[in-house]
Amino acid sequence: MSDESEQPADPEPDVNISGGTTGGDVATSFDPATAETRAERVVDRLGERYWQKTYGGQDAFTCLVRTILSQNTSDKASQPAHDALIERYGHSSSRADETGASAEAETGPTPANDGEADLAVALAHAEQSQLAETISSAGLYNQKSEMLIGAAEWVCDEFGSAAEFDRFVTDEAPDTVRETLLDVRGVGPKTADCVLLFAGGRGGVFPVDTHVHRIYRRMGIAPAEADHEEVRAVLEAEVPAAKCGFGHTATIQFGRECCTARKPACLEDPEACPMADICDQVGVYPETGEVVDPADAPT
Ligand code: SF4
Repeated sequence: MSDESEQPADPEPDVNISGGTTGGDVATSFDPATAETRAERVVDRLGERYWQKTYGGQDAFTCLVRTILSQNTSDKASQPAHDALIERYGHSSSRADETGASAEAETGPTPANDGEADLAVALAHAEQSQLAETISSAGLYNQKSEMLIGAAEWVCDEFGSAAEFDRFVTDEAPDTVRETLLDVRGVGPKTADCVLLFAGGRGGVFPVDTHVHRIYRRMGIAPAEADHEEVRAVLEAEVPAAKCGFGHTATIQFGRECCTARKPACLEDPEACPMADICDQVGVYPETGEVVDPADAPT
């Protein structure tokens, strides 16, 4: 009989953009021998070093909230803000405390779900200064609290509830979902793509954050001058759809541990990086110890 304690722990950190242990990810595996592009080879190596997964199944509005909270800060700082927000606004009783009876009177009843409030309805009626205080650990809390209330109001106006918004994200064509989300204040391409990936479970979506943007230009896989959208286009064209999700999360881990912004591992030891043989080191100069953004590297 197998003992659960003997199962290997999930290698992805609990505190991560994917939602950690409640993120709805599923471990999977791929054959690295079949990689057809350099970008795919990089993702395969990251998969061997960190994890190989598919994502999807997160509640779409909760995912939107998590991604807005994570903007311009680390997951370590945004996770406590997320937890505090859910604690305060994510339960029926707390919703009644925070918003009063008027919330339901204006928007109609929310689906019964074991004491959980409809988070969009609760946040649409949240008091801004109280929400700002609740999420203060995430930084930029005034701005983010306004964005969250605006996004919640938008979800309530357009869809009626977080549950209906979730259906939209899961069922509609990805391009339609993306374009619709991009019209919401505070939602940029990375946030829209994270919702498509972690909630919609859409393959072929490779969100580009600051680590992904830096690393694939450094490697010479994307042009040095490429903006976030251009890097995304390269990766989504060159990495098979099923590998894009963990390609995103594992690249972030690689950017934190190895190819960091100021001190990539190869600066001191060329052997220290598992990508050394397939990396162009654009803007990285081990001879002098200098590092510049690839866009500023002389051509
Ligand atoms: S060789 Fe250097 S620049 Fe290239 S991926 Fe590795 S650490 Fe980053």
